[in-house]
Amino acid sequence: MKVIDHIKKAKGETLFSFEILPPLKGKNIQSIYDGIDPLMEYDPKFINVTYHREEYVYKTHANGLLEKVSIRKRPGTVGICAAIINKYNVDTVPHLICGGFSKDETENALIDLTFLGIDNVLVLRGDPIKTESNFTPHPDGHQYAKQLVDQVEDMNKGNYQLEEVSLDPTDFCVGVAGYPEKHFEAMNLGSDLQHLKEKVEAGADYIVTQMFFDNQKYFDFVEKCRAAGINCPIIPGIKPIKTLKHISFLPKFFHIDFPDELANDLMKCKDNAAVTQLGIEWGIQQAKELKAAGAPCIHFYTMSKSDSVRAIAKEVF
Ligand code: FAD
Repeated sequence: MKVIDHIKKAKGETLFSFEILPPLKGKNIQSIYDGIDPLMEYDPKFINVTYHREEYVYKTHANGLLEKVSIRKRPGTVGICAAIINKYNVDTVPHLICGGFSKDETENALIDLTFLGIDNVLVLRGDPIKTESNFTPHPDGHQYAKQLVDQVEDMNKGNYQLEEVSLDPTDFCVGVAGYPEKHFEAMNLGSDLQHLKEKVEAGADYIVTQMFFDNQKYFDFVEKCRAAGINCPIIPGIKPIKTLKHISFLPKFFHIDFPDELANDLMKCKDNAAVTQLGIEWGIQQAKELKAAGAPCIHFYTMSKSDSVRAIAKEVF
């Protein structure tokens, strides 16, 4: 079932969903199940599976030549989504990115998803890889997520890259990303909202936000989206902070701020256990307020560690 239909069916009740990260290469599917099992009793309506590009290093040979060596490739989302559906009978949302993919490769991935009965995708551009200073699209791929939305919507109308073959239209529900604290490359929040609106006008059914720790930022963002004419559901994404490392990593990597009250409390934490406990308490407070304000769904970034999300879900759902 499509995410948008879950939202409609809920008739204003706040849904629970979460996102998992495919494990590093070499691990098996059980590591995914271990992250999902503890959360199933809170009845997630859908589970997102992130996509990660291959990472490379350059190895120098004795003759001075450089060799590009792949060091990290998490398994792809199509197989993981199929395994989750098979085990839990829950809807999945594979993340589909522009980075690294030609239009033909994207089309093939979407054909595989349709074959498996998966009718949801979260459409993203992807970040620059470590060796790039700016995002570089595949020569035959897409520069912006909006163009990838266009491709999915074309397939939903039966227009494929493979012009010689006649295929049935696909039927994907499309989610896109939104940034309450602005995407880090955008000139300002106004231009970012314009580009978000273009994704929605291209056919996106709903928006999932980047994580935030200050609910007021989400409320302001929703208000600005509505004022700009973006009327689809906007799902808040939240993440319980868990470790001392997160204190600097999350703002740096995700371009978000901690509100003063949380930052002051984090400064008093002496170890990971204290940060985890604070993260749970903050997450409960955030989720309760978002639910009371009528958020369509609360989407949790688990990073495949479910214990804190479970502690929050127990109090909220
Ligand atoms: P876009 O919508 O293309 O926007 C990128 C930037 O370009 C923005 O600054 C926007 O304002 C600007 N822009 C858009 N259109 C135009 C235009 N026509 N002209 C000029 N500027 C324009 N990354 C992964 O690699 N894998 C994942 O699984 C993944 N999951 C994510 C899930 C969520 C909910 C979120 C919020 C992010 C996720 N990301 C993931 C990260 C995401 O790929 C990055 O944030 C990326 O830098 C931007 O993606 P986007 O889809 O928002 O891009």
